[in-house]
Amino acid sequence: MQVFDGHNDALSRLWATNGDPVERFSRDEGHVNSPACRAGSMGGGFFALYSPEKRQATDFTLFEPIDDDEALPPALEPGPALQSVIGQAAIARSLHDQGAIEIVTDAPELGRAFMAEDRIACILHLEGADCIDADLLALDALYALGLRSLGPVWSRPTIFGEGVPFGFNRDGDTGSGLTVEGRRLVARCQELGVVVDTSHLTFRGFWDIAEMGGPVVATHSNAYALCPATRNLTDDQLRAIGQTGGIVGLNFATLFLSEEGWRAGRAGIDDCIRHLAHMVEMAGEDAVTIGSDFDGAPMPQGIASARDLPKLIKAMREAGFGEPLVAKIAHENWLGFLSQILA
Ligand code: ZN
Repeated sequence: MQVFDGHNDALSRLWATNGDPVERFSRDEGHVNSPACRAGSMGGGFFALYSPEKRQATDFTLFEPIDDDEALPPALEPGPALQSVIGQAAIARSLHDQGAIEIVTDAPELGRAFMAEDRIACILHLEGADCIDADLLALDALYALGLRSLGPVWSRPTIFGEGVPFGFNRDGDTGSGLTVEGRRLVARCQELGVVVDTSHLTFRGFWDIAEMGGPVVATHSNAYALCPATRNLTDDQLRAIGQTGGIVGLNFATLFLSEEGWRAGRAGIDDCIRHLAHMVEMAGEDAVTIGSDFDGAPMPQGIASARDLPKLIKAMREAGFGEPLVAKIAHENWLGFLSQILA
């Protein structure tokens, strides 16, 4: 069973690590790389372009507990933010030129690249529009480089809106919604056929986007009812995603999976199944997918990298999901949704 995944941070991992990124991607290191994807039947996914505070590799096997109430980091300067995004887009381009991934920008390309055994279909995603000014010119440039998905914020403020700080035992009603510029950015993305991602946004930002019409998407977020984290979605949000024909992708980050994940750094594949079942109940069979957060978060026991995706598929079957639902979650929902947006 092939998997299409809604979120990974392989490009920022490669960008923050020394050495030739193409060569590194061909080695079995990190969570997403050529051999791991081949072994785990990961045929494609969203590859994030992300601006960190510092250019620094993170070892996600070393768990650092997070406070219940982290402060929201300050906004980034657009100049340095753009530098990281362009660096990571260049790495994506080299991987594309060398045939390791294929940056896809329309529906037929996506279908072909997903089925190809020798490369990974790549939707370029901007995680936080810190690098885009109010004139939105950088958006047009990134679109020309292949960008087809964008979240207005990561967990910090931008001129477009506000992200949620990482917090537990409280919901995502942590700050303001979209600004006037934020609405213009979303409208421009809808015009261009760029997916708008609400993962990391505040409640108000989420509902502002829902009110603008169009399908509501959260590429990598889980169920608040099962893990009370600011980054997770309430049942009302999950229902809204389903009702608008949108998508929600299961995040593998231990922090967002189990009730003790953020304290203990522990979660298992059984937690993934619990979240999937709840999300299917709230959002419907056609809305639920995978959004691993590979290379961006600590992983649950049993999933060390993309190589272990078949274990999740097996667990879905054992939980009685049935073959049609397993296929929808594994790839059909993402591919069906994207072929409409990229038509
Ligand atoms: Zn994220």
